[in-house]
Amino acid sequence: MISASIEDIITKLVANNVDSIIPTIDDEGNISYPVLEGLSIPVEMLEDAVKDNILERHIYKRMLICPIHVKVLSLPTLHCPQCKSNDIKKINLIEHITCGFIGERDRFDSGGRLVCPSCDIQITEKNSNMLGAWYTCNLCSAKFNAPLILFQCNNHQLDIAMVDIKDIFYYTVRKGLINNEYDVNEVFTTIYQILESKNISVMKMHPIKGRSGVVHTVPLYINDYRGNDIVIEYCIDNNDTNISNNNFIQVIIKLIDLQAKHMILICIPKMRDELRYMAATNNIMVIEGNNKNVIIANLLDIVNSKILQNRRG
Ligand SMILES: [Zn+2]
Ligand SMILES: [Zn+2]
Ligand SMILES: [Zn+2]
Repeated sequence: MISASIEDIITKLVANNVDSIIPTIDDEGNISYPVLEGLSIPVEMLEDAVKDNILERHIYKRMLICPIHVKVLSLPTLHCPQCKSNDIKKINLIEHITCGFIGERDRFDSGGRLVCPSCDIQITEKNSNMLGAWYTCNLCSAKFNAPLILFQCNNHQLDIAMVDIKDIFYYTVRKGLINNEYDVNEVFTTIYQILESKNISVMKMHPIKGRSGVVHTVPLYINDYRGNDIVIEYCIDNNDTNISNNNFIQVIIKLIDLQAKHMILICIPKMRDELRYMAATNNIMVIEGNNKNVIIANLLDIVNSKILQNRRG
């Protein structure tokens, strides 16, 4: 069981420079997706993150699976088709053409050379025929040329017809840095689609009248009509490592005028340390960074917690 959200986990992964989630298969054939600190992510959660465009899915291996227990099957074993015993022996028959003797390969073995036990002549490719392989069961003495192939799962066995072939996937964190307004727009579109798919009432480029009477347009606005609204704004500076004071202050003034219940400001790539207090004292939550996934993951985390908080209350 895990309590962390996929957003938390991905943020951690990215922070630790881990960008793929590889499956492991234990001795019993169970597939799991371990990540950091011994934590495993359920595959349903990974699939949801794929739908949300946070993770990308790739084929890791095609494996044989027990359709009943959904476990990966290990190497098959060969059995007698009559009594199902595993105690079977492979027999190779050799015909010595010169004298006509046919027998098991073992009988021709003479200190590393093959010699006909009937006429004592050495066997060569030209004077012999390999008659193919047979199997014999040591338990019931049955002779057969096609042994039964069985796979072991838990406490039952499956033959080849019962086995399923399944694609096992690994997952990678979607790459991508935000460099310009176009990238920002893409991120907001993704966030919008994710929120909509979760039945959260969200609007793009939404006009709101501020306390000053000025109508501001915000890129994303969430309102569950219970006085619990969230404004999501951003500021970006692609020429510098920090967002310029001017740019930042303009956005802060706009947010203060709006006075939504919750305000989230995405700063790409980073806000100036000396401006942090302005955000904090005005109850503005700040997300910093320039990795699309980290920003999306962090934002969804905040939105989830605010919406859930309200649903509980
Ligand atoms: Zn099974
Ligand atoms: Zn048998
Ligand atoms: Zn011979």
